[in-house]
Amino acid sequence: MRIGNLSGRLALFTDRGAVDVADASGGRFDSDPQAIYHVWDDFVGWASALDEVDATDFELTDLQAPTPAPAQVFAIGLNYRDHAVESNLAVPDTFPPVFTKFRTALSGPITTVVLPPGGHVDWEVELVVVIGSTARHVAEKDAMRYVAGYCLGNDVSEREFQLKKGASQWSKGKGCDTFGPLGPWLVTKDEIKDPQSLGMWLDVNGERRQTGSTNTMIFGVAAVVADVSRYMTLLPGDVITTGTPPGVALGMKPPVWLKAGDVITLGIDGLGTQKQKVVPFKGR
Ligand code: ZN
Repeated sequence: MRIGNLSGRLALFTDRGAVDVADASGGRFDSDPQAIYHVWDDFVGWASALDEVDATDFELTDLQAPTPAPAQVFAIGLNYRDHAVESNLAVPDTFPPVFTKFRTALSGPITTVVLPPGGHVDWEVELVVVIGSTARHVAEKDAMRYVAGYCLGNDVSEREFQLKKGASQWSKGKGCDTFGPLGPWLVTKDEIKDPQSLGMWLDVNGERRQTGSTNTMIFGVAAVVADVSRYMTLLPGDVITTGTPPGVALGMKPPVWLKAGDVITLGIDGLGTQKQKVVPFKGR
């Protein structure tokens, strides 16, 4: 099933349109899209048993992040070999590099990316994992039990903030406002037969920049969930964005950074597409 955030309310998306979950459940489930991950198994049971319900038309531009306020947002760096090479950074072998983004960066699928002043801003199409139950010291073989589903994400990055300008870790270049488009929706894990065989792409102004597949991830979804759960407790609704294939601006010679007016489009098989317009920072 597909669930998401329609104008701030939790919705279920069917072929016929959107179903408001709070209304359809008679208030059993809250309208807050973030709250559903705390009652995930109950919700999946209820939603799976739904018969005919009234669905209404909706505008894709009214979709917001399916997880708008997670307690934690983790990201995996250099999880595709050729992206590590193009970034001129070492290919990880034993442990995935983990960094954080921040919930203030999150936005919806059809939005704007705001360029910080003086920026070197880049794109990264990524498979995003959303956690469905509390996970701590989870074994890789058990890790998928803790996953609610997947969504498409763009791990927008300011490379000077990330790698220079006093950077001691990456989060400074990954946490700018608007740097975390998520959606259009979360697709539950039962609908994605193999998360390690999903094609992915990203265009800038209609020109293909990234083409890849999750089958070339160094650390797969289960390995990533298990690894992060070694260091801190993963909570329902937490987000882990799992790394990007090659084709980012950082790897171009010379780099062609995003500029105002650019349009980014991206997609992952089975998870939908996104579109962002790049705009300048206009003050507070
Ligand atoms: Zn990334």
